[in-house]
Amino acid sequence: MDLRVRPLNDAPVRHPAKYVLYWTQMNRRADSNHALAYAAEQANCLRLPLLVYEGLTCTYPEANDRMHTFVLEGVPEQQKRMEELGAGYCFYLRKRRRDDNRVLYKLATEAALVVTDDYPTFIAAQHNTQVPARIGVAFHAVDSSCVVPMNHFAKREWAAYTIRPKIQKVLRQFLRPVAPVELANRWRLPRPEWHTAVTNGNVSSLVAECEIDHGVRPSLSFSGGRLFAEKTLHAFLTARLRRYAGEKNSPANHATSDLSPYIHFGQISTLEVALAAEGYAEEHKLAATEFLEELIVRRELAFNFTRFCKEYDSLEALPEWVQVTMRKHANDRREPMYSAEQLEWARTHDPLWNACQREMLLRGKIHGYYRMYWGKKIMEWSPSLEQAHQTMLHIHDRYALDGRDPNTYASVLWCFGLHDRPWGERPIFGTIRYMGYDGMKRKTDVPGYIKEIDHLERTGVDPFRIH
Ligand SMILES: Cc1cc2nc3c(=O)[nH]c(=O)nc-3n(C[C@H](O)[C@H](O)[C@H](O)COP(=O)(O)OP(=O)(O)OC[C@H]3O[C@@H](n4cnc5c(N)ncnc54)[C@H](O)[C@@H]3O)c2cc1C
Repeated sequence: MDLRVRPLNDAPVRHPAKYVLYWTQMNRRADSNHALAYAAEQANCLRLPLLVYEGLTCTYPEANDRMHTFVLEGVPEQQKRMEELGAGYCFYLRKRRRDDNRVLYKLATEAALVVTDDYPTFIAAQHNTQVPARIGVAFHAVDSSCVVPMNHFAKREWAAYTIRPKIQKVLRQFLRPVAPVELANRWRLPRPEWHTAVTNGNVSSLVAECEIDHGVRPSLSFSGGRLFAEKTLHAFLTARLRRYAGEKNSPANHATSDLSPYIHFGQISTLEVALAAEGYAEEHKLAATEFLEELIVRRELAFNFTRFCKEYDSLEALPEWVQVTMRKHANDRREPMYSAEQLEWARTHDPLWNACQREMLLRGKIHGYYRMYWGKKIMEWSPSLEQAHQTMLHIHDRYALDGRDPNTYASVLWCFGLHDRPWGERPIFGTIRYMGYDGMKRKTDVPGYIKEIDHLERTGVDPFRIH
């Protein structure tokens, strides 16, 4: 069987059946999607049509207007593209806790098999553990998140330098476009009566009807959906890629792709982004190496970590040298010290840190370079490292459009030494790498960045927003 496919139960394929069901949880796209391609292949083999089911519930932790808006904005285009392929498409918005929670199981009763996305964190990981035993039909998870499939690796890798050569060895084998989906049997059945019609005009009213936290407003900078993912990629290739290697650590210069929200919700795949970046770089005689290092090596190290380490959301996942140094410095004096609430509302003495946190509150993402500084300072100013870790995850869960991702858990723990090495001994951090304000001031345009975030907060308008 294909290295990307994991059968998650022993239940047989159902005969007779009305369709093959693709339940899209994390790869919400019609293009460049191995899970969709696999489901289509199975449908063709079984001479059945394909039904794509996508859902959004009010019950995941910290469900709020920001996350709901971003997902719902993607639905009209998703429906259009799936229907153009000849697949059936239905979307279910579970607005209230008391609303039906058995939609997937009902659809599965008429399916020959259910295909879904293989994903190591958050709600998809929970579903893929709990659903297979209860669904009563073959349930296959397909990895369409990584360029090199997670199954290629037999165990946890320890750092970028251990996974990099393994990725490079097989990269050409996997860095290939997904063949276009062709369905032999078009969908002709009616849509289920519970389908939620989502249009470009009704997203905000649907969000308002949901039993979720309405206190977290939609991002001022990112609109969800495939069209915006494509536009963001295009803008990156044409205006930023040539500056990426030299300026990726200069937040005020905006040289990075800003694709992480779209990648997280699967509205675009890293495979197609990598192919596009390579193609554009070749055509324009540029180098895409640094970008591909982040997009593939760093990101897939995070997927490897969360796939193989069950405690990925805990400090227990950290290596022994970190455990030793954390114990040694557990009682070091913290001055200043801030509560989780002060941090959440950006109320510290440090204007750069506050600007980073305000960027998170307003945009739903912090620039990657300052995100490291942001994390390191939370460690320094929290009563304990355990609390610092909780605060970082809480802020990501609540505000980050790219949060709850393997990258979230791995990168937050990177601040504590994951995938890193020991550095010089100092208070609070012990031998964990430290980052300070002076370094940021020396290496980056701190006043330019603060001015940008002030303007964003004051006007509510982001000049970098893609329209
Ligand atoms: C404390 C902390 C928390 C973070 N939380 C998240 C998170 O919740 N979600 C998230 O996607 N990333 C997270 N990162 C990693 C990184 O900061 C973001 O991926 C990046 O800033 C996203 O912006 P971009 O799309 O413009 O990145 P680009 O520089 O354009 O990179 C392209 C893509 O490569 C991947 N990538 C880039 N940098 C890294 C990295 N260091 N590790 C792994 N993958 C990377 C991302 O998918 C990114 O979209 C975090 C980093 C830190 C230090």
